Amino acid sequence: MTTSPTTPRTTNDFGAPVGSDQHSLTVGPNGPILLHDHYLIEKLAHFNRERVPERVVHAKGSGAFGTLRVTQDVSRFTKAALFQPGTETPMLARFSTVAGEQGSPDTWRDPRGFALKFYTSEGNYDLVGNNTPVFFIRDTIQFPDFIHSQKRRSDTGLRDNDMQWDFWTAVPASAHQVTWLMGDRGIPRTWRHMDGFGSHTFQWINAAGEKFWVKYHFKTDQGIEFFSQDDADAMAGIDGDYHRRDLSEAIERGDFPTWTVHVQVMPYDEARDYRFNPFDLTKVWSQKDYPLIEVGTMELNRNPEDFFAEIEQAAFAPSTLVPGIGLSPDKMLLGRVFSYADAHRYRIGANYAQVPVNAPKVEVHSYSQAGAMRTENYPKGRPVYAPNSHGGPHADPSAVTETDTWTTDSEFVRQAYTLREADDDFGQAGTLVREVLDDAARDRLVGNISGHLLGGVSEPTLVKAFAYWSSVDADLGARIETVVRETLRRGEADTAGNSSPSTDVDEDQLTQG
Ligand code: NDP
Repeated sequence: MTTSPTTPRTTNDFGAPVGSDQHSLTVGPNGPILLHDHYLIEKLAHFNRERVPERVVHAKGSGAFGTLRVTQDVSRFTKAALFQPGTETPMLARFSTVAGEQGSPDTWRDPRGFALKFYTSEGNYDLVGNNTPVFFIRDTIQFPDFIHSQKRRSDTGLRDNDMQWDFWTAVPASAHQVTWLMGDRGIPRTWRHMDGFGSHTFQWINAAGEKFWVKYHFKTDQGIEFFSQDDADAMAGIDGDYHRRDLSEAIERGDFPTWTVHVQVMPYDEARDYRFNPFDLTKVWSQKDYPLIEVGTMELNRNPEDFFAEIEQAAFAPSTLVPGIGLSPDKMLLGRVFSYADAHRYRIGANYAQVPVNAPKVEVHSYSQAGAMRTENYPKGRPVYAPNSHGGPHADPSAVTETDTWTTDSEFVRQAYTLREADDDFGQAGTLVREVLDDAARDRLVGNISGHLLGGVSEPTLVKAFAYWSSVDADLGARIETVVRETLRRGEADTAGNSSPSTDVDEDQLTQG
């Protein structure tokens, strides 16, 4: 073995030099190994503990650091420090798939997480969005069931298209998001080539205390690009880490991706009468009603140094809010405000906020103390309770109540949102199909949906799926049914329950309508 004078000596985890990286301590060269070889024990025991539980959702992902630059003046809508004109805020973005586990292919059809952490001058602000403006369900109580239906069966450990469609067709509120997902943007070419959305409706509060409802849009400056189902399937076999690699390599070569940040702003009182319920996560606000207002630019320009420390331990939570930004009556958002921080306390520990990637860049004056893996000393002399008469931190009344400032005069109920005149489960999905997609995109939509339905979906579920798509759009439903029935008649689909989707659909089937 050669050593260079510039190579540091190996130490144990406590800094003491070790005698060998290669030989355990044994009784003679043929063993046995001695239990008091504490360096060997440290090495093996630490190796056993290299993983924290993977996220139940959004397990596979990656991310990068960057900067949010506010180029426009939106101070009339929010006093939040990060959105004041000219402000530059360091940030972290993490992109992910939803249903796949660590190691699953990046190019599976799935929504993508678009989670942002802004290290603002008034504490951290997390915006935990997706690459879609809507979601499959509108009440958080359905979330565990929804995710179970998209992940794996408890008996075989396999994913199951029948289970997915059984859930989707039983929950018509899913139609808008499933239409979006089965369309071109359901498999982005890279993370750099997709838009991001805050998806939920949030509240902005300006310096005068006026309240507005907002939706965030991050429009990719690289342009939208997507994979066809066939190309995505091929890429899944060639490079399961394609999206992770693309982002890392782009930043490495100095090709920093940017997104132009926009918001839609709704005056507080207009929420009451807007034709769609503005807090329903399965709906968008039409941009014709609420046009995009430019805010600034988000650039990603620095790769993580340590994937585990900075990405796997990165903990985003919609409860991480700052003054000038609040929540809304969106029932999905309100559930996430509990769930995300709770997941991090489980995955990483009670003191996850002290992990450097999660720690704010401002001083923390909280009364939290102790707990597993506490790394910061509680400041000597600071009282450990509030209120106190000893000069401890005091709450600022101007910063409170922003997470719960909306009015309601209702009884407690367990009920769906009250539907409005223009509002139903299928309307906006139909608008997407008829008014946004062109003929070629509609053809690909028929192919993608049919291919997925031909991947082991049972006859009773197929019948429900045809009705579901006919409710979105009669022509679309008829075309899907024709393609699926014709392919089944030719005996080309796998009806035995194998859930690998097939997209082997003739072009003439796609266009016959
Ligand atoms: P607009 O015509 O003003 O906007 C259409 C939106 O659809 C644009 O944001 C456009 O994004 C997006 N879009 C274009 N192609 C696709 C695609 N293949 N898959 C998904 N989205 C696409 O219409 P409205 O605002 O009135 O909305 C009409 C429909 O558009 C909605 O029912 C909804 O399904 C969809 N949509 C609406 C969004 C919104 O926030 N209002 C956001 C995204 C979709 P781009 O400009 O990047 O091409």
